[in-house]
Amino acid sequence: MTKKTTTQWTSVEDARDFILSRISAITDNCRVPLRGALGGVLGEDVIAPFNVPGYDNSAMDGYACRFADLSANEETVLRQTGAVFAGGAAVTIGEGECARIMTGARIPTAADIVIPQEETRTDGDNIYMTAAARKAGTHVRLAGEDLREGDVALAAGKLCMPADIGLLASLGVVEIAMRRRLRVAFFSTGDELKSPGMVLEAGEIYDSNRHTIFAMLNRMGFCAIDLGVVADSPQALEQAMDTAMQTADVVISSGGASVGEADFIRPVLAARGEVLFWKVAMRPGRPLAYGKLGDIDFFGLPGNPVSVMVCFYQFVQAALWKRAGRLQVQQPPLWTATASTAIRKSSGRTEYQRGILWQNENGEWYVRSTGDQGSGILSSMTQANCFIVLEESRGGVVAGEQVQVQLFDLLNN
Ligand code: AMP
Ligand code: MG
Repeated sequence: MTKKTTTQWTSVEDARDFILSRISAITDNCRVPLRGALGGVLGEDVIAPFNVPGYDNSAMDGYACRFADLSANEETVLRQTGAVFAGGAAVTIGEGECARIMTGARIPTAADIVIPQEETRTDGDNIYMTAAARKAGTHVRLAGEDLREGDVALAAGKLCMPADIGLLASLGVVEIAMRRRLRVAFFSTGDELKSPGMVLEAGEIYDSNRHTIFAMLNRMGFCAIDLGVVADSPQALEQAMDTAMQTADVVISSGGASVGEADFIRPVLAARGEVLFWKVAMRPGRPLAYGKLGDIDFFGLPGNPVSVMVCFYQFVQAALWKRAGRLQVQQPPLWTATASTAIRKSSGRTEYQRGILWQNENGEWYVRSTGDQGSGILSSMTQANCFIVLEESRGGVVAGEQVQVQLFDLLNN
């Protein structure tokens, strides 16, 4: 890589688009039982094998009758000749007749409207319908109004959500083809890192990144392969990359991606595969390496714990979803809120400051910074409920200005 390239900075959007353009989706499927599909990516289109609902049925408890028998101007009296329950046998009515009907019960032959119980009074078998302007078909749920036989009920590449599980069940599905789980290997680099449970010597810290990355991957439902802490040496990194290549679809490292004397990610990746991209005009998270080890995608995240999370959510997450076979991957939406205090920022880079978003008594949204925005201050992430996303061209923000925020709660969708 030339000196010129390393000093050129890429915008967040260009970097994201570029990375996504280099990611290809896995196509292998496996069959899973209905409930096991939750949170996975559908591996095939699901075609409705029949109409849902399968028959015309009532949306209300009341009386099924013929619209033609009803008067809009005066009370109508009809004779009740039967009753029909959900799951029960169908009945037939004739002219001047009605049938008691429960929600979900089959509409009697010849009936075309249901009068809710609240719009009636009874006197033995005589049912009095209040005068009202009505339309044929009211409170009748038509066969196929949810799904028609032959429709694509769910498309391949969709992330399977609770509603999808219910929809599949409504089609009688017991087992479904899903993309296999994505395998993501990850490791930390740094001679200063110890794992929780070990005793810290002078100058050492506990490795938090590996646990944050595990947690973020786990929430996405991926198979997270922990390769541990790797020493700051080219040989150790080569070995870690070789192991990762045998086990994973994607590899994520943290630390050692900068230009310090112990930062070997970039040269080792370049020697083993290709480094496709290097510096992003953003804060935190500037030194981000993306590359390929054969067919495997490699993300070399910065070492600082906040940078790891910002880079993961702004670049890696969408890439992982695409790799996992999901279609229509989008960045979490941005909302607008009023800055309650001034926010310091320099133009020329996109900033992801940690913010606390709240609603005042008039329902207006306000946001303030969590305070010190150092990229090593992980407590800022635990206090925050959103990123304050400040565009590249923007300078400092004065109190009262509108800013965009990205809610943490929406980061995982
Ligand atoms: P590096 O990018 O390797 O120079 O690391 C930047 C900063 O992040 C240093 O202060 C490291 O000690 C810290 N750091 C690197 N990896 C981790 C980790 N896994 N957990 C916590 N802090 C880390
Ligand atoms: Mg390091």
